[in-house]
Amino acid sequence: MDDTSFALGSLTLFPDRVIIAFRKNAPKQYVPESALSLDTNDRSLDGVLARGVSVMAVKAEFPDVAVIQQRHHDRRKRLQKKKAHDRRTSRRLCRREGARERHRIEYRLHQVANAVLSFAEDQKSAVVLEDLKGIRPKWSKELNRRLSLWPRRKLHRIIEYKAQWRGIPVVKVDPRYSSRTCPICGRIQDSRMGAEFECECGWHLDRHINASLNLLRTAISKGMAGGLRFNPGAFQHDVMMILYEPAMAARSEPNGTSGMGVAI
Ligand SMILES: [Zn+2]
Repeated sequence: MDDTSFALGSLTLFPDRVIIAFRKNAPKQYVPESALSLDTNDRSLDGVLARGVSVMAVKAEFPDVAVIQQRHHDRRKRLQKKKAHDRRTSRRLCRREGARERHRIEYRLHQVANAVLSFAEDQKSAVVLEDLKGIRPKWSKELNRRLSLWPRRKLHRIIEYKAQWRGIPVVKVDPRYSSRTCPICGRIQDSRMGAEFECECGWHLDRHINASLNLLRTAISKGMAGGLRFNPGAFQHDVMMILYEPAMAARSEPNGTSGMGVAI
């Protein structure tokens, strides 16, 4: 309560409880000294930290999010089959499944967002993300179904509101052609390729990291990443910083059955 950015909002008395509301004034955003550009995928954020003349690969991994989604998807399917004669029970159980799934996924996404933002704060970075509006889910070969986009959208929302609280600038850019453009010569490839982006000019790089370079270029060309200059040639091909991986989770996992409400 010593935090001066908190202000008392209102006090509401009930026979059995008291609700104290606080207002928090969002701190002023810092002027970015670097850019943390991230391409959002279903199992990871892949990107670069561009600082001065150095451009370094970064990654935050959350492979379990897609696994949780698949497991719950299968379980729902089984439930619907088993309880086909009892639609009401089936619906109720499916809803409970859905709530558990969301809870577990959101828990992971919060950890990812915190790790990414702590890093951005240390580096005084502007965070560059793709604008996911208008993006349609892609078919996943391994999961054999369409991957839902909500975890990625949710991750962006969490990053955006947490960033606001911490005074970290976030810029969203149009991701069109970001996965097909060569950041060195500007050629746009006809179709998507494998895990590696390769260009006729000789440039090659992990496809997702390459996409993040293009997001960064867009942000810089629009003056959204401070006074940074776009310098993809300075990319360090031999370094990768891991901002987050599930093994970093210090606290134990929630089992998904605990209450989600906030007690006052
Ligand atoms: Zn090229």
